[in-house]
Amino acid sequence: MFIDTHCHLIDDGHVIADMDDVLSRAWDADVGGIICACADPRDVAIVPNLVAGHKNMFATVGIHPEYAGIDACRVITPQILAHPRVVGVGEIGLDYHYGSENRAAQIKLFESQLNMALVARLPVAIHTRDAEEDTMAIIGKSNVGGVLHCFTGSWDFARKMLDRGFYISASGIVTFKNAADIRDTFSRVPMDRIVVETDSPYCAPVPHRGTRCEPAFVADTVRVLADVRGVRVDALTDQLLKNTCALYPKMNLEK
Ligand SMILES: [Zn+2]
Repeated sequence: MFIDTHCHLIDDGHVIADMDDVLSRAWDADVGGIICACADPRDVAIVPNLVAGHKNMFATVGIHPEYAGIDACRVITPQILAHPRVVGVGEIGLDYHYGSENRAAQIKLFESQLNMALVARLPVAIHTRDAEEDTMAIIGKSNVGGVLHCFTGSWDFARKMLDRGFYISASGIVTFKNAADIRDTFSRVPMDRIVVETDSPYCAPVPHRGTRCEPAFVADTVRVLADVRGVRVDALTDQLLKNTCALYPKMNLEK
């Protein structure tokens, strides 16, 4: 059984129109749990009810750095964080890829959400792009635990975050032909610190590249990862399930 630890099923403030089809393809592909992440502040109000309506669906709530300037406290309430299906805070972080003019606002948004996670005793799902140094420095000042989602960074950064107890998440990018360096990183991450995600609708793995990604495709990423690690797919899926439950202790899977 696979778990998709990070996907987006809300687009532009609305649940995707064909969600029931997407979910039934996921369950048919032996996906036994799905964690829906937020990015847009509008996702935060919608996602708890969305996941509560389906068995073995969970959520992380958070505001992506592209919305820097927003006051997270006005969007993410203690009640939302206490929802039984809300298992973490994410995705949150820093993204300097498109420039650096709003760095201070990004850092403020990131730090306020790290604090919320600490108070609520929840793990965080971190998005970081071209911002490894600041991410490390900010996490270094916090006692929070969590995962680096859709990891594409350097081994050095992965190693430092592993030392802080973080998990590293593999997306469909590990299946891409030109991603040898990322596969190399995932050959070195300790087996008990890896989790897998689709980051749907982005980053569809081979052989689905170029199409809209969906949780059913998580199996393709796990197969490549098993190859990278030289282990059997069933042994890896068992380990990934254990890792996901350790990362997100609030995730309560039903039989
Ligand atoms: Zn995401």
